[in-house]
Amino acid sequence: MTYRAPIRDIVFALRHAARFDKARADGIYDLDDETLEAVLEEAGKYAGDVIAPLNRVGDKHGTPFRDGAITMPPGWKDAYRGWAAAGWNGLVAPEQWGGQGLPAAVNAACIEMWNSGSMAFGIGPVLTMAAIHALTAHGSDALKQTYLPKLVSGEWMGTMQLTEPQAGSDVGALRTKAERAGDGTYRITGQKIFITYGEHDLTDNIIHLVLARLPDAPPGTRGISLFLVPKVLLNADGSLGLRNDVRASSIEHKVGIHASPTCTMVFGDNGGATGWLVGEENRGMACMFTMMNEARLAVALQGVAIAETATQQAIDYARERRQGRRPGMAESASAAIIEHADVRRMLAQMRALTRAARAICYATAVAIDRGRREASVAARTAAHERASLLTPVAKAFATDIGSEVASLGVQVHGGMGFIEETGAAQHLRDARIAQIYEGTNGIQAIDLVTRKIPLEGGKTVATYLDELRATVATVKAANDPAFGATGDRLGEAVDALARATAWLAAALRKEPDAALAGAAPYLRLFGIAAGGTMLADEALAALRLADAGADAPNRVALARFFAEHVATAANGLAASVTEGAASVPAAAAFG
Ligand SMILES: Cc1cc2nc3c(=O)[nH]c(=O)nc-3n(C[C@H](O)[C@H](O)[C@H](O)COP(=O)(O)OP(=O)(O)OC[C@H]3O[C@@H](n4cnc5c(N)ncnc54)[C@H](O)[C@@H]3O)c2cc1C
Repeated sequence: MTYRAPIRDIVFALRHAARFDKARADGIYDLDDETLEAVLEEAGKYAGDVIAPLNRVGDKHGTPFRDGAITMPPGWKDAYRGWAAAGWNGLVAPEQWGGQGLPAAVNAACIEMWNSGSMAFGIGPVLTMAAIHALTAHGSDALKQTYLPKLVSGEWMGTMQLTEPQAGSDVGALRTKAERAGDGTYRITGQKIFITYGEHDLTDNIIHLVLARLPDAPPGTRGISLFLVPKVLLNADGSLGLRNDVRASSIEHKVGIHASPTCTMVFGDNGGATGWLVGEENRGMACMFTMMNEARLAVALQGVAIAETATQQAIDYARERRQGRRPGMAESASAAIIEHADVRRMLAQMRALTRAARAICYATAVAIDRGRREASVAARTAAHERASLLTPVAKAFATDIGSEVASLGVQVHGGMGFIEETGAAQHLRDARIAQIYEGTNGIQAIDLVTRKIPLEGGKTVATYLDELRATVATVKAANDPAFGATGDRLGEAVDALARATAWLAAALRKEPDAALAGAAPYLRLFGIAAGGTMLADEALAALRLADAGADAPNRVALARFFAEHVATAANGLAASVTEGAASVPAAAAFG
């Protein structure tokens, strides 16, 4: 399976849709264009040359489980070790612990590329990065010194362990127990399910971050604590010692990402696994929330990643495959299917959705960086709220797009799309999980409506709507016939989003069930208005730059396609939000 990292588009989206350039002008970044492009070029090469060729091998081979051990597919260990040795794992980690301290925005572009190479490969490091983040923010000095250098270098990998059979979306229902051992450590007993990279042979140690409950903890999410539980305990000199009392008891057989081992983990066969508290007792959820934005963004990027690969593959196939004739062609001739209007429509849809989702994800990453790097507390807070607002949109919109685009990719291939050997079907199978893990897309929509609309009394979303309106006004003022109806359609989408937002803000107080029924269409509407507007931002920037490399005609055409073919759904979605709650049946109506 080939993958060519779309460096030019990635850089353009970052600089102009996500406004990396503006942030740089504001002093948030000190990375020049040459360095930015050099880092991304190198990442693209590794993703295309080393990771992508392993994607199919991983899908076919899976991760066999025998006697508690898991063997990763052929070639994966070398690829992982080469990747870690090149420093990719610590790109965004603090320099103090061996990282490079680069912006989250640059890491976001790289995460996209690792996952375009292979989603099953890309998800492992996402969890290590989340563990690094949690430890950096909340770990004691001793834990940081012991674990961070090896996690940052990638010598050890991390896991995040929340889910239990009765505690999925409802994390507060978890039962894994932690008891104080009296020596400053804790004994962990219980079972976790669906743990990504819970066991594998890529690294000699695995550092599990586990949510558990102390005996005297209050119920629900207020009584959850976070613990670091290494697979292998360390000797006093830091070398690997005895196995801890934690093991993988089985792995799942999944629809996709076959090379990502998904494990059931058992803690405490022999009295309890030794764990160390991260942060404070009963404050585990707060620790998890610190890194939620980035872990969710990483999963969002998986959606973009798979959409990009599926689009590239569909375009290649559509150029090669010949069937039928274009109107007006001679009887004896046959056209490449890319000549057919319906195939071109599908390809444009794939490209437009992919780029809109990418723009939203990168904008979220820039907001995360601003939240950390702005000079004033007020600016940091506003940026943090912006990141919080965009994160659920990025996660759910981009992963929905991943599946939709992968499905269109199968369609472009016709019957061959349904045959595994083309690889189009693997994209569809792999893409599906991103809509589910790291908080289902339904939960993301609820988060957007119930927690993000009310941020700062509605100011966060209002400010964002103003920015979208400013772009629409610029498109209209450009008065460029190449934009067609872009300004009008995007204007309608932003107005529809404003209408639905106001309705939901009021409904949340008066009729919360009606607000929740409209959450998913609202999130889609948000993604459409934001993504379409950012594609217009890219087109406007390309026109301003007026050099051939900026590819203005194609960027304008793509923004126009999105506005005229995708943004047209906005009014319908707004009506579903504001008028549709009454027709969502009661549970009893399902018999
Ligand atoms: C391959 C894979 C890898 C995973 N990796 C990890 C991992 O590394 N670590 C980890 O801790 N977990 C992991 N998970 C677990 C994953 O995060 C959960 O499966 C996910 O959060 C959903 O929980 P659930 O499966 O219990 O579904 P449920 O919570 O049972 O949800 C079922 C349906 O009900 C909906 N629903 C639930 N509650 C509500 C509500 N209040 N309002 C409206 N709708 C609701 C959901 O949106 C969903 O559509 C993984 C899962 C898979 C399949």
